[in-house]
Amino acid sequence: MDTILVVNAGSSSVKLQIFSVEGEGRLRRQIKGQMDGIGSRPRLKASGAGGDPLADRAYPIEAVPDVATAMRIVGDWLREELRINPIAVGHRVVHGGPDYDKPVLIDHGVVARLERYVNLAPLHQPHNLSPIRSILANFPLLPQVACFDTAFHRSHGALADHYAIPHQLYAEGVRRYGFHGLSYEYIARTLPSVAPDIAKRRVIVAHLGSGASMCALKDGRSVESTMGFTALDGLPMGTRPGQLDPGVVLYLISEKGMSASNVQNFLYRDCGLKGLSGVSNDMRELEKSENPKAKLAIDYFVYRIGLSAGMLAAALRGLDAFVFTAGIGENSATIRERVVEQLGWLGAALDPIENSRHARVISRAGGGIPVYVVPTDEELMIAQHTLSLLASSRSRNPKQERLS
Ligand code: ADP
Repeated sequence: MDTILVVNAGSSSVKLQIFSVEGEGRLRRQIKGQMDGIGSRPRLKASGAGGDPLADRAYPIEAVPDVATAMRIVGDWLREELRINPIAVGHRVVHGGPDYDKPVLIDHGVVARLERYVNLAPLHQPHNLSPIRSILANFPLLPQVACFDTAFHRSHGALADHYAIPHQLYAEGVRRYGFHGLSYEYIARTLPSVAPDIAKRRVIVAHLGSGASMCALKDGRSVESTMGFTALDGLPMGTRPGQLDPGVVLYLISEKGMSASNVQNFLYRDCGLKGLSGVSNDMRELEKSENPKAKLAIDYFVYRIGLSAGMLAAALRGLDAFVFTAGIGENSATIRERVVEQLGWLGAALDPIENSRHARVISRAGGGIPVYVVPTDEELMIAQHTLSLLASSRSRNPKQERLS
């Protein structure tokens, strides 16, 4: 059985999925797992497609000190215990910089180029590149593909891509990239089958997870995003503030004496729903809480989604449909109800029964703009890209290796 390994490596975890390649290039998810607690309490957990447990094992901290070691352990487990030798590996890489507008087959030159973008995403890019380098060193002929969170947004026009700062900084790469691109690309590719009438029209997609952003799609292409240079901008998130006057950052430095790395930690870990509520970064906890600050945090989240919808509808010059996706968007009927209320002036109206049963279409029939719930699948998107790039690489280089 031919399989594709999808890897999503962060600072303390490596998530993996295995897809089998079926007839006509169809992909079927076989395994989902992750090694988390790298450098603290390493643990490998994995299950099969039906949720059947395949592994749950803890490791001593010194056995898994870093992401590269975690990747090696995961690779050994797949090969030696499950007898899985992937024909290719697809990686989620947060930053493709200004140039990559699609996934790329990895070689040493690509890695060197992606290393240049480490300073554009210092918290993510080095961890994304670490397993790539280790596989390249140990299995140089195994095809690897980098799939970027930024690539889907490279279709933005100049106005959406710029900040009003001197051009030299733009030339260096200080641009409004936008993120969650693999999720938006999956939705854009899924819409023609879910909603053929609107797939080519003006659509706002709200990716509401622990990271959250919104994207304006026109004819299936991204024209604007709430995120910019980093994944800090736009909507409030679990622990990130979303849009913030840069003057607040100056205040933290000049009045609070915070260093750059203190500010970075603060903005990535202590703000957003967690900072505002003082209760939790998890929407489920906030929805359960009686604390008025938890209520304020939810109100703020919904309010900012409404404001952003107005901004994106202006970029699109109108709106033909709205799509919810990701953890909160797919699962919280309450948040969806409140957001659709905010969208009333744009022509949206909720069908509460369809919403409460998490139906595909949750808007009222017979008028207004349709509102959809479409579960995202970034890993499948990566597997599909990997398979299609593999086909082109195979025609160029028939001598390929498996992870063995
Ligand atoms: P990410 O991939 O960005 O880590 P997800 O898309 O998995 O995040 O979304 C995670 C978030 O989804 C959680 O923080 C939680 O707040 C929210 N979530 C998941 N299920 C529910 C639910 N039933 N009700 C409300 N929020 C939910």
